[in-house]
Amino acid sequence: MAKIYYDDDADLSIIQNRQVAIIGYGSQGHAHALNLRDSGVDVRVGLRPGSKSIAKAEAQGLRVVGIEEACEEADVIMVLAPDQNQRQLYAEQIAPHLKSGDALFFAHGFNIHFGYIKAPADVDVCMVAPKGPGHIVRREYEDGRGVPVLVCVEKDATGHAWELTKSYAKALGGLRAGGIETSFREETETDLFGEQNVLCGGLSHLIETGFEVLVEAGYQPEMAYFEVCHEMKMIVDLIIEGGISKQRWSISDTAEYGDYVSGPRVIDGHVKENMKAVLDDIQSGAFAKRFIADQDAGAPEFKKMRAAEASHPIEATGKELRKMFSWLENQDADYTEGTAA
Ligand code: NDP
Ligand code: MG
Ligand code: MG
Repeated sequence: MAKIYYDDDADLSIIQNRQVAIIGYGSQGHAHALNLRDSGVDVRVGLRPGSKSIAKAEAQGLRVVGIEEACEEADVIMVLAPDQNQRQLYAEQIAPHLKSGDALFFAHGFNIHFGYIKAPADVDVCMVAPKGPGHIVRREYEDGRGVPVLVCVEKDATGHAWELTKSYAKALGGLRAGGIETSFREETETDLFGEQNVLCGGLSHLIETGFEVLVEAGYQPEMAYFEVCHEMKMIVDLIIEGGISKQRWSISDTAEYGDYVSGPRVIDGHVKENMKAVLDDIQSGAFAKRFIADQDAGAPEFKKMRAAEASHPIEATGKELRKMFSWLENQDADYTEGTAA
């Protein structure tokens, strides 16, 4: 059984007695900074000069300083810049300011696990990784709820790293929902596996393929969009509420029978073999190496794939149809570039 911590298992005063630097103010950065601040923690946000996030963070009442100044002041440093930028950021602006007994925190184990960041021996290396997008981490906290987190300690240099990690997770609101104890290796490999095979890569390509098959067979694209994309959230909501069983209980017997008969035809043994091959590339570091090499070269492969996927016909169909959903916010937002800052 996994070890799961809740609010009663953690002492909030531990993190309240530290000085915390949140480096980056994007999807996760803003949520960590604001939630910790609202939990009574002394927070400063470290940002690059000229960053467009400075005004945003200051408008939220946060103190913003340069990255090096933030690391110098703080004894807990949470690194929330994109994974591909953390190696250089760490070497140039964080490492020179680490003192014995400081704690280095991450929300994903990528750089530590694959060896791109090597922390000094006298510094705690910890992780609090929310299992959800940053904007939901903030919204849930404000609503008195929390997004579950993974907690782990790669190096307990002080002997107090676990208590500190749990305290941070509590301040973030994560222990309201539960903090699962894990390791940097398990978090990193399962996170990459989940996003590549199921949550992101698997899901988006399942939707796109279903759309293509229907449209190529002569059905209207609008019909195809509603059928293989829009309904997805309702189905997933049922699964989250009551498991796959609740979804199968709610759908028609026709749909349920079709699930049993045709699901295994689509997601067949090949898919499992492919997922295992993807897992091999994650475990061997081959995926990490390919991602970082491309990023270091200015991300030519990444940008090419991003542009190609953004021009998939389902995107144009969906954009038109969503205009009818007046309750959807930010209809004109461009989600094809940059990050969710
Ligand atoms: P974002 O892409 O949203 O981070 C953007 C922020 O990082 C901006 O404030 C940006 O500053 C800053 N930044 C970018 N490059 C640099 C750099 N070279 N040096 C200093 N600051 C920089 O990141 P995420 O929040 O998506 O990810 C942060 C971490 O959280 C990652 O480790 C990720 O794996 C993990 N994570 C993310 C989740 C998510 O919901 N997105 C979920 C769980 C974990 P500027 O304004 O100057 O551009
Ligand atoms: Mg991830
Ligand atoms: Mg149907």
